[in-house]
Amino acid sequence: MIILAFDALDLHQVQKFNCKNLMQKEHGQTDLSDFNQARTVVLWASFLTGKNMEAKIPIKTQWTFQLSPEQTFLKSFKTYKTIDVPAFSYKQKNHEEERKLLKAYFEEKATIEECDAAVWRNHEENKKEFFSHLGKSDLIMGYFDLADFIGHLSFGITEKMAKVYHELDKIAEQVKNTGDFVLIISDHGMKALGRFGDHSKNGFYSSNHKLGLNLPKITGFYDLVRRIAENEHATN
Ligand SMILES: [Zn+2]
Repeated sequence: MIILAFDALDLHQVQKFNCKNLMQKEHGQTDLSDFNQARTVVLWASFLTGKNMEAKIPIKTQWTFQLSPEQTFLKSFKTYKTIDVPAFSYKQKNHEEERKLLKAYFEEKATIEECDAAVWRNHEENKKEFFSHLGKSDLIMGYFDLADFIGHLSFGITEKMAKVYHELDKIAEQVKNTGDFVLIISDHGMKALGRFGDHSKNGFYSSNHKLGLNLPKITGFYDLVRRIAENEHATN
């Protein structure tokens, strides 16, 4: 199984930029109405555990919040590889640098080019790691925060967002024909805030299989992923 975890991927943007590979056989929005806020770590932790983790993750320490494999659907796979997944294998150093640059930008101590360069560099690192491990375990889950980070700073700049969405669409294209079960998922969406962007309560999902879902909750994928893991065991 392949899970592409795209932070802040938003259905309206996917449609706007006509990202055909992100819009697979079934795709749509997720329902985040059970959450008070659309917080990144909370939503990924909830996706991984199948439980609403909002009350368990304080804002102050959220970035270092850590789940054990036993708490997640990962335990259902004989072998798995996760790349930079929040609340699990999050690359603290890379994201600290990103958050520091973001803060510096708003204090006029860093340029937008410096911010963009750092996030693209981290993206390329994750992409390289993802494709070098593809096909080598029962599950691979790759996390990419490009749409979130660039979106926060430049949501109103169509050209920049188009580049981001086409990049993510290309990643989706490369996993499309591997024969594996593909799930593309985002934690939340994004809405315009002037030229900037802010989290919206519209998550996104997409799969190369017909799932028959209608506005699924992000916690609902836990059972689906576990069923796929059991099927893999049965056929192997
Ligand atoms: Zn996020």
